[in-house]
Amino acid sequence: MSLAEQDLRGQLQALRDGSVSSEELVRHHLARIERHAGLGAFVHVDADAALTAAREADAARASGSAAPLLGLPLAHKDVFVTRDMPSTAGSRMLAGYRSPFDATVVVRLREAGAVCLGKTNMDEFAMGSANENSAFGAVRNPWDAGAVPGGSSGGSAAAVAARLVPAATGSDTGGSIRQPAAFCGITGIKPTYGVCSRYGMIAYASSLDQAGAMARSAWDCALVLGAMAGFDPRDSTSVQHPVPDYTAALDAPREGADAARPLAGLRIGLPREWFAQGLSGEVEQAVREALEQLRGLGAQLVDIALPRSDLSVAAYYILAPAEASSNLSRFDGVRYGHRAEQYADLAQMYANSRAEGFGPEVKRRILIGTYVLSHGYYDAYYLQAQKIRRLIAQDFLAAFESCDLIAGPVAPTVAWNLGEQTDPLASYLADLHTLPASLAGLPAMSVPAGFGRGEHARRPVGLQLVAPHFGEARLLHAAHQLQQVSDWHRRAPAL
Ligand code: GLN
Repeated sequence: MSLAEQDLRGQLQALRDGSVSSEELVRHHLARIERHAGLGAFVHVDADAALTAAREADAARASGSAAPLLGLPLAHKDVFVTRDMPSTAGSRMLAGYRSPFDATVVVRLREAGAVCLGKTNMDEFAMGSANENSAFGAVRNPWDAGAVPGGSSGGSAAAVAARLVPAATGSDTGGSIRQPAAFCGITGIKPTYGVCSRYGMIAYASSLDQAGAMARSAWDCALVLGAMAGFDPRDSTSVQHPVPDYTAALDAPREGADAARPLAGLRIGLPREWFAQGLSGEVEQAVREALEQLRGLGAQLVDIALPRSDLSVAAYYILAPAEASSNLSRFDGVRYGHRAEQYADLAQMYANSRAEGFGPEVKRRILIGTYVLSHGYYDAYYLQAQKIRRLIAQDFLAAFESCDLIAGPVAPTVAWNLGEQTDPLASYLADLHTLPASLAGLPAMSVPAGFGRGEHARRPVGLQLVAPHFGEARLLHAAHQLQQVSDWHRRAPAL
């Protein structure tokens, strides 16, 4: 098998048995990044620093270090601040910005031995579902150059799918790990809110933002997430909860299960609202086939209800812009980033800097957020949305009385065409399957489950799995078992 065909686990094995060096791996991936620059997946690549880090990793391995990701190449979504590379969050506002510190996730992965090759493209301030809102250009879907890669972690998803890196970080506020993973045919996990530190992750909607892992398989995601997760005293919303050994959990036998039926006893709930009108036939078919495979592994499929699911879009698109309007007020031309050259007084300096620095979608959300928080509308919109959020979370808690995992589609359709979606509302509505778990703070995954049909034959479909709080190991276990009997996650785009 060539290097590019090896997933993270394969590359780790090759490093361990000495058949490849980190330097060779890094050179190989840097060459692919250069060759496929047209995808627009990266906004910054630092080849020299990566090669230096790779040589250090090789030396460390030679002297006996066994750090879990030692010498493995990866990339960070450009929402994580880095001291040695620019950090832009996909915005002109932060073009060329250098952070004085590294995000905790960046530090942890480095300490685990990973070699960072660069920063990946994203929707501006993580607002979007197609990666067309980036100030640094759209990203193309490696499977089909006419399709979007999904968003907002579209650069990370495209980079992993195109084998430019075996794994990448992402962030998910309302689906930004799961949906691009689905559109690009890779595996992604957003853990429980609070499991990964938000310190140094440029804020969009703080009560929803969560970092996670994107890679080819559940095994690979387990390895990366294990290194990212854990309490961080620098983040007041970080939770003090032990991080299990996720990779060890992947094959841990379940009580009452056996090798032929490793998921025996696992009840998987199918929310009827998620299979309702609006779900495309081709996505439904692929998802149902994956569910049949889970059943073949011993899982029991049960019908459940998440009655308030249909309110998720409305609640999220009030709460997330409200938080964003507050978070983004720090970009005022004084402290960070872009400052207008022309202005008569201070107020105009603020106005011009923000008018020039932010793109149209970010401005739209700041306006919506400011409106719903303003006196007279706060009770009618923001407070109501908060109440709905709680009810949605309660629906999940009730549903988990009769099931151990919840499954459904990640998105109602396969990836759409670049430039096709011009109505922001249509794009908001397409988030209906990912928003509920985000509002409830639950861990959720996207697992490759096939492709669309006809002219969509090269557009991947994702199966979504959702677990109760802190159920990451259970999620990863089910996804890993599914990947033992399916090969969608091994398919590669013809590039
Ligand atoms: N598409 C959603 C939005 O635009 C989710 C984005 C995200 O998870 N960062 O808000």
